[in-house]
Amino acid sequence: MLILADDLGYADVGCYLDAGAAGAPAPIRTPNLDRLADQGIRFTSFYSAAPLCTAARAALLTGCYPVRVGMSLPDPRGRPVLYTDSNAGLALKEVTLAEVLRDHGYATALIGKWHLGCPPFSPENQGFDEYFGPAGRAEVVDHDEDERTPGATAFLAREELTERYTAEAIRFIDKNRDRPFFLFLAHSAPHVPLAVSPAFAGKSARGLYGDVVECLDWSTGEILGALERLGLAERTLVTFTSDNGPALEHGADGGSAFPLRSGKATTGEGGMRVPCALCWPGIIPAGRTCSEVVTALDLLPTFAALAGASLPPGRAIDGEDLEPLLKGEPGARGRRAPFFYYNRNGLEAARSGRWKLTFGSIPHSSTRGQPLALYDLETDAGEWRNVIAANPAVATELADLAQAMREELGDDLLGMRGQKRRPPGRIRVPPGRR
Ligand code: MG
Repeated sequence: MLILADDLGYADVGCYLDAGAAGAPAPIRTPNLDRLADQGIRFTSFYSAAPLCTAARAALLTGCYPVRVGMSLPDPRGRPVLYTDSNAGLALKEVTLAEVLRDHGYATALIGKWHLGCPPFSPENQGFDEYFGPAGRAEVVDHDEDERTPGATAFLAREELTERYTAEAIRFIDKNRDRPFFLFLAHSAPHVPLAVSPAFAGKSARGLYGDVVECLDWSTGEILGALERLGLAERTLVTFTSDNGPALEHGADGGSAFPLRSGKATTGEGGMRVPCALCWPGIIPAGRTCSEVVTALDLLPTFAALAGASLPPGRAIDGEDLEPLLKGEPGARGRRAPFFYYNRNGLEAARSGRWKLTFGSIPHSSTRGQPLALYDLETDAGEWRNVIAANPAVATELADLAQAMREELGDDLLGMRGQKRRPPGRIRVPPGRR
């Protein structure tokens, strides 16, 4: 069971917020998400592999950096995410988490947001037996401009979306109670435009945004309750995370990544470090908080290992199997490989252990690709103190690793194409608005 929020910030889940810290936002009440974390493991350095929707989802489902699968700048017209008139999508030959598990005998479903292309690039062609969501009609209901497009089909009233998705999720769980299943519940909330049903309106100290998150929390409680009621709790891994950081440009209608720097669309910690909790009673020891570096890339190989499924042979992926870490095996660590912060135009930073090295992101600058700043994230999660002058060897080592990654996957702002990129899916005729 994989639950994905959309644009939910690091500080938007109760157990992630240090509410007493100077400058902290008002807390949002999330007792069910806190319970999920209490009953399992909560990661404090979990990264989405991209700061934007389409690329982040491509990475989550393939275990690959978006740039590897042609999804870092997915739209042929240069827009940073896919739209209903984009004639591109996640290539059908890419192997998704849903395909890995379906081929291992799991019933699979996507409920909610897809954002990896219009038909033929649909969830049903990427391993999901069932799909309930807006793709192929008003695929990008999340974007204000599409919602204002005359003729765009309203899929469901936005204020009812979370409840509707939750009901569908419980229906799917109930239907598949006697067999293995993989349910990807990809909420549209709390992406703008915000809307919430009357039952949740006006309840949160964080305004409408908080109301929307409290509804997401309610939804998670309903799912956990259904699993318990059906006797499935001890046979089900439940994962909750977000696709990218908060949309700070929306002010009170966006979330908070406090105390991290910046938000969505950036490679500041706030853009890509997101809440992530997993629980599986009896398998994942309860009550742990873990600061090891773990990423959305690692979920596919980890889930495959936990399910006993094999990965497709001969296909490079960037994720690592972190089953030993989840199970609490002695000495188990997070990712061995560094984490590379690819934004839509190139590689902007690299993290290994406590260190994060950033590179310039200004196109065509002569210093582009050169180390710019080094941060010690263990003592300075907010990226305030550049310690590069005091740690030149660390900076050189990370810069060399980043350069090796550029050789492999490229860096568009440096004009590097990379040797190992795979192409996106393309169709000749744009689908047009449906
Ligand atoms: Mg998003």
